[in-house]
Amino acid sequence: MPKRGHLFLLIGPSGSGKTTLIHEVRERTPLVRFIPTTTTRAPRPTEENGREYFFVSEAEFDQLIQRGDLLEWQWVHGNRYGTSRRRFADVIAQGLLGITSIDVLGGVAVKTAFPLDSTSIFVRPSSLEELRRRLTARGDTADEDMDRRLARAEMEIAQASACDEVLINDDGRLQEAADRLMGIMRPWLGQAE
Ligand code: ADP
Ligand code: 5GP
Repeated sequence: MPKRGHLFLLIGPSGSGKTTLIHEVRERTPLVRFIPTTTTRAPRPTEENGREYFFVSEAEFDQLIQRGDLLEWQWVHGNRYGTSRRRFADVIAQGLLGITSIDVLGGVAVKTAFPLDSTSIFVRPSSLEELRRRLTARGDTADEDMDRRLARAEMEIAQASACDEVLINDDGRLQEAADRLMGIMRPWLGQAE
């Protein structure tokens, strides 16, 4: 029987460390590939189309919705983000291991669509204060966005228990969090080797 792939969904508020953890995983194993999602947000200076995200216009996003290409989509901080049904289904059918970053509502929708072929992992900082400090340090959050992001973070953290796993990414303890994440992925990594 062909091997089935698996999707690891890193869920959690902006600034919790999902992108950083994905970089750590990719440094530690070549077996897990990042699956970009699609957004109407403008690329940041360091971002490239098709690498961090597929960046599309509002009209292109409307088309994706109309064609039924998106498994789910959400407004997050004033922009739309969505996951391609085909891209995720292909990862699983081709026996690959994929990792992606998604908000809590989207994560629940993907988990419902692929209950056995995905693992939802909630990443949270130790406190909202820590989250504020990280978003300030990252430098891409305007003051007026900060309260909005932190309010949404509270909503997201309240839903953490809906996920398969909760991973605390404490300040200065990135390696510990990455070790734990590798531990969660180990059964699938073992099969893929
Ligand atoms: P997300 O992808 O969840 O929005 P990022 O991975 O961009 O979050 O992380 C937000 C900021 O926090 C980044 O500047 C990152 O370097 C920093 N960061 C991530 N994890 C830790 C940690 N364990 N300790 C201290 N800073 C961290
Ligand atoms: P950022 O703009 O900081 O890269 O991401 C903002 C938020 O959107 C993050 O919480 C990220 O996980 C989430 N996100 C990214 N792609 C998707 C997606 O396809 N669907 C949903 N629901 N959320 C997403």
